[in-house]
Order: sequence, then structure tokens, then C-alpha cells
Amino acid sequence: MLKEQIKKVKSGEIKLSKYVKEVLDKCKSINKEFSYFNTICEKEALEQTNEIEQKIKSKKAGKLAGLIITIKDNLCVKDVESTAGSRILKGYKPLFDATAIERLRREDAIIIGKTSCDAFGFGSFNTNVGLDFEIPKNLHDKERVTGGSSGGSAGITAVADFAHVAIAESTGGSIESPASFCGVIGFCPTYGRVSRSGLISYANSLDKIGVMTKKVKDIAPVLEIISGFDEKDSTSLKQKMNLKNDVKKLKIGIIKESLGKGVEPEVKEAILRTVDKLKKKGFVCEEVSLPTTFKYGVPTYYLISTSEASTNLACLSGLRYGQEEDPKGKSFSEYFSDIRSKDFNDESKRRIMLGTFARMAGYRDAYYIKATKIRTKIIEEYKKLFEKYDVLISPTMPVVAPKISEVKKMTPLQNYMVDILTVGPNLTGMPHATISVGDKEGLPIGLMATTDHLEETKLLQFLEIIEGLQ
Ligand code: GLN
Repeated sequence: MLKEQIKKVKSGEIKLSKYVKEVLDKCKSINKEFSYFNTICEKEALEQTNEIEQKIKSKKAGKLAGLIITIKDNLCVKDVESTAGSRILKGYKPLFDATAIERLRREDAIIIGKTSCDAFGFGSFNTNVGLDFEIPKNLHDKERVTGGSSGGSAGITAVADFAHVAIAESTGGSIESPASFCGVIGFCPTYGRVSRSGLISYANSLDKIGVMTKKVKDIAPVLEIISGFDEKDSTSLKQKMNLKNDVKKLKIGIIKESLGKGVEPEVKEAILRTVDKLKKKGFVCEEVSLPTTFKYGVPTYYLISTSEASTNLACLSGLRYGQEEDPKGKSFSEYFSDIRSKDFNDESKRRIMLGTFARMAGYRDAYYIKATKIRTKIIEEYKKLFEKYDVLISPTMPVVAPKISEVKKMTPLQNYMVDILTVGPNLTGMPHATISVGDKEGLPIGLMATTDHLEETKLLQFLEIIEGLQ
């Protein structure tokens, strides 16, 4: 879809400005119904369209000419309100583009809006939106969640009937969960593949920028553009991403613990049905085990992520970004405490408290340092399996999309536990992806595949195989 679209734009078969206007109108009406966007940047999108039309005329248009892109709201887009879904950043318009955005723009992709997320990425359902923000609705049943935290990205990817790629971000599962609940493909590359410069950080050692699409073949052209070394991010990788190599026959490991207690029977059956089909095609599929990951993954993830988040959010004090108030008569502490008390939502406050506690002198060794040690053990556990297997598979989420009202009744701990299947690859920084393999009464069921560090090619190949089975 994507390549054909770009060809038609470049040849003039599609009249770009008319087309973009139509897409923007569609998105406005989609937004009324589903609340997938925090901002639709019509003016900026049309300005960009004009420039691209000129380039097309002079045969200078970039590789992604006219491709419609949406951006999760925690990535900075120049001159467009970028709030990470929180009221405390209302009014913040970055003076620069995140590196990923800059690279997309350079290739003439058109940015049409900022998509809904849990505030700062803190959530698995996109119900922890900031104060005054709407909860996005699942297109398969409007009473249900989209998944989170990149719920808007998945929602718009699922409903869009035009060529489109969503740029999303994952810290502990935020690409996978919504991709699974909305029935689209979510692809999260190796940590460091895509520069984090310009990302409103949740947890620096975990944050990864990735993509969502409807078709597997639409992933590579965008990923190749946004990835690659960036001197503005010291953790970005030097290795080039080459997604064209052919890979030998894949050996698949099915993660035993992911099909145990707490997983809905329909979810388990959909995964096992896929395994049967793979076996019939001649793939070796064997059961494997990740005991440390399943025992300690969730607490390890939440200790590390909240520790990092609690320092990252310290810069939001009503002075440099977003909300401001009249400081008259207030001491500095009163001023920033007032703004932080008023404009952070409950979940953001919970995470600041959890993280600050875990990092405190006296608790540091018992919590934060211990968690980082277990993280190393988890990485070793995965690495050992990749000596023998190419791809590890599991369900993405243990359940199909729950109702918004059901999520509201869950305790924080119950919320955190639903990430049990996605925290593993996120803690290891390994590439992983979700693809739909069935449904329960119309609600999509996602399969998650993980490969070793830098093995995105294998992951894409595996997704293509699964896509071919449907
Ligand atoms: N659900 C996880 C959390 O709340 C992951 C979110 C994310 O990847 N941003 O932290």
C-alpha cells in the first residue's frame, strides 16, 4: 500500500493537496467518534503539502513523498503542541523536531497529528490519560480500551483507509499492547536503533521508538529512514539497519510460561493454532522456558522504569515547559508544588512516589540496584535461548481488550501485572513485534515475536510468514 501510494504521489496520479485535505477531514470525523488524536495539525500539514508539491514538480521529492504519518504525543514536533498526554505540558510547542521526525520530514512524509497516549506513557490501556484528555475507544467495540500507552497510534492505524504509518514508542509494552487490542502490527526495534533525541523521556534505559502499520511490508521503508546513529543520542547505535537480507529457515521457541495461568483460553488457543500451522509448513517449534523473566520481570520493570521516570519528570515545574502561573507571593517550592499537584494525573504522581522511594538512600541497594542486577539475569536468560532459536513467541497480552469500566475497577497492581508478557523483551532491549492471529468474538488476539538484538530482519521475515498464514 505504502510503496504504491508514494509512486502515485510522485507521478502526479494523486493530487496531493486535495488528497491531504480529504485525509484531514476524515481524521477529524474519526476523532469525534474515537478520540485518537490529541492534536490534528492541519495548518502545518497543508504547508508541508505545498512544499512537497513543489518538489514533485521539480522531481526532487523524497523517499516517503506524501506518506501520511501520525506521531505519538510524547515525541516533539516543531511548533505543534506536544504534551505526552499530560495537562502539565499543555501549551508546550517544541522549537525543534525529534530526530525521527526530522528524518521523516527530510523524506517528505506528511505529519498530520499527535496521537493519544497514557500521560508520559504510564499505562497499558490508554485509560491513564491526562486531566482534560479523552480516553480513546477501541474500534471493535467502543466500550473497550484501545490498549496503551500508544492507544491513539494503534486506533488510527486500524481505522485508516489511507496509506499511513504511526510512529509510536514503547518502554515496557506500549507498542505491543495497543497493537494487540486493535488488531494491527506493532514493531519495536532494538534499543538504540532509533534516536531518542526529542522524545519526552519516560525511562531512558528502556524507551524505544517504533512503528505501527496494517501490512508487514510497510514497516521497513519507514524504519530504515528513522533508524541510525544520531550524535544527539549517545545510546543510539552505529550499526546500519539492513532489512533486505535473506534469512535461513527459522527455528521457533514457544514460551511455556506465557500460556499458563491467567491467560484467556481463546488467546491460548489462537497461539496454539498458529503453532500448528507453522509446524505443518515445516518449521521447528519447541517449547522453551524463561523462569527468571516470568518470576521477576514485572517488579524489575516497574522498579527501573519508575526510578528513571521520577527523575525525568523533575524538569516539569511550571517554569520551562507547558503550564505556567503567576508566581507572585509564592516561594519556589510552593509554586512548583502547586502546579505539579494540580496538573499531574494520579498515575503520574504514583510513579513519581514509587520511583523516588526506590532510589532513596537506604532503599537503593534493596530495590533499584537489585532490579538492575536481575535485569542482567533476564538478558542472559534470553541470550541463552537465542543460541538455539531464532524467534521466541507468546501471546502479546493475556486477554483481549477489556471494557473501560472494567479497567477503572482494577487496582494499580492488577494494572501492572497485565504487562507480564511484554516486559521481557523491553527489559532486554530486543526487537519484538505483534501481529494479529485471531479473535474472540470480534476482539483481536495478538501474537508477540521476539528476536535477538539487531535481528530485525529475522523478525520481519517471521511476521511475513505469519501474515501469509492468515
Ligand atoms: N504498561 C507499561 C507501563 O505502564 C508500559 C508503558 C510503555 O511502554 N510506555 O509502564
